[in-house]
Amino acid sequence: MQEYQGIILKKISYKESSEIIYLYTKEGLISVLIHGSKKIKSPFLNLTKVLNYVKVITTGKDLKTLKDGEIIINYSSIHESLEKYTYLLMVSELVYYFSTHEHDHEKLLSFLVKVIEKVKITDEYIPFINMLELKLLYLLGVNPIFNKCLTCGSEVNLVFSVQDGGVFCNSHIPSNYYDNNVLNTIKMLYYFDININNKIEVETEMLKKIRRLIDEYYEYHLNYFSKTRKMLKGLIGY
Ligand SMILES: [Zn+2]
Repeated sequence: MQEYQGIILKKISYKESSEIIYLYTKEGLISVLIHGSKKIKSPFLNLTKVLNYVKVITTGKDLKTLKDGEIIINYSSIHESLEKYTYLLMVSELVYYFSTHEHDHEKLLSFLVKVIEKVKITDEYIPFINMLELKLLYLLGVNPIFNKCLTCGSEVNLVFSVQDGGVFCNSHIPSNYYDNNVLNTIKMLYYFDININNKIEVETEMLKKIRRLIDEYYEYHLNYFSKTRKMLKGLIGY
């Protein structure tokens, strides 16, 4: 028997009454079959909710099967807000997609839990979602370079280029760029210490630019296009 803890990123139906959950643990992604979990009488009916932080005990090597399990943190209250839930689905999809890459899963899992907590308790949660997206760029080794102009090394009056993954001074401005204000916000989010600071305020117009920048960055550097993003776009309008 083996024990795992993690966040349920996704689940699929299996046969008539069973489910397979995809659990993000500190070792990475595992899938676990839960017999009869869709039956009303199943003790695991609530355990399998997406976003729950759970502990599971499994048997079997190739196909892990649930022997026992419990909910450690129940995030089902988030499901009541369609917008919050959709944002977290977008994050789940992202973490799931890159879970097969070699990176620091323990670090990402711990950050993911902190972000979900923020989403639960505050309505100003979008910057925290952005932080996770930026942190993942770092874990995947495609992090942006913020400090010096990529051409001359200047550290003043910088703008940000998605394609180059870095900054330029005003003597070397590229054809496509985000201005200094956007750059400063991105930097602030990138270096934000979620353990020390609780609150963060970013204006809606700026959030839209950040959203666009992150989407472009993932598309350009990782060829990643989110499916949930379309749903979110319909919901929030940008
Ligand atoms: Zn320069």
